[in-house]
Amino acid sequence: MALPSVKNATFTIKVQEFQKPIKIRPMILAEHKAIQMSTDVGQESDVALTIANVTASCTDGLVTAQSVPQYLLDFVFLQLYISSVENVINSRYRCYGHLKDEEGNLKYDEETKDPIVCDNSIEVKIPLDTATIIYPEEFNDLKVIQITDTVKLYLKSLSLQNNLDVSELRVKIVDIINEIDEISIAKEEGPDEADKAKIKELTDKLIGMRQEIKDLYFYYSVDHIEDADNIYKPETDFNLQEFLEWSGNCPSASFNRLEDFYQNVPTVGMDLHIQCPKCGNKSDTKLRGLKDFFS
Ligand SMILES: [Zn+2]
Repeated sequence: MALPSVKNATFTIKVQEFQKPIKIRPMILAEHKAIQMSTDVGQESDVALTIANVTASCTDGLVTAQSVPQYLLDFVFLQLYISSVENVINSRYRCYGHLKDEEGNLKYDEETKDPIVCDNSIEVKIPLDTATIIYPEEFNDLKVIQITDTVKLYLKSLSLQNNLDVSELRVKIVDIINEIDEISIAKEEGPDEADKAKIKELTDKLIGMRQEIKDLYFYYSVDHIEDADNIYKPETDFNLQEFLEWSGNCPSASFNRLEDFYQNVPTVGMDLHIQCPKCGNKSDTKLRGLKDFFS
């Protein structure tokens, strides 16, 4: 006999980046299992991509590794997790407070004479539904770059896929640095002419790749360019090469605060106020990004 068909109810959430509420269906068991398996054995990028795939399925392809900034994907996944699995997750934090005697004076280790650290392992319940998207103070100002009176460049935060692409290039850079180090110390008498030529070749490659990452990061950060008449979107209206040529001809001062934008990306987060039941020490822990919630 065929088992009864099961329809999963959907719910909606609102985020400022989308005009319409996002419709979400809760995770099915198979999807939850896939995420658990990836967290058990996978690398960080595998886990992130599995989470992205599940989120894409549950939002009917609206929120994916490519389509939205990573913080938005993280936030939607968190809502999905709350509705499908649990709202409270248990975590443990080590207490770095100092032990005190009954009069409130610090206790000291007799041998080392140092104050004694509490070192208690505190069980903390994290209420996921209090997590929000935390936008940096100047985010809305920093994301608009006025190039001329009429031309503006709008920036956006990188998507998960963008971030993974950039990380992959960074890993290659580390490999080259290691290769240079190995050649430099391989021979007791120092590198010979052939080694020096190889080191020079690798160093040039390294400089090129560093520039490549900067260029790619810049390009990935472009939401669109607009003038009085048109809106120009990356991939649709221009490619990386065309963008680099165009931006290379813009006044250099336009990009003075680009680094500030990069450094201040929105993130999913919450502040936890923890009090140690053993020593009474109070501390604040900032959770920023999905990893902080699920580690
Ligand atoms: Zn303590």
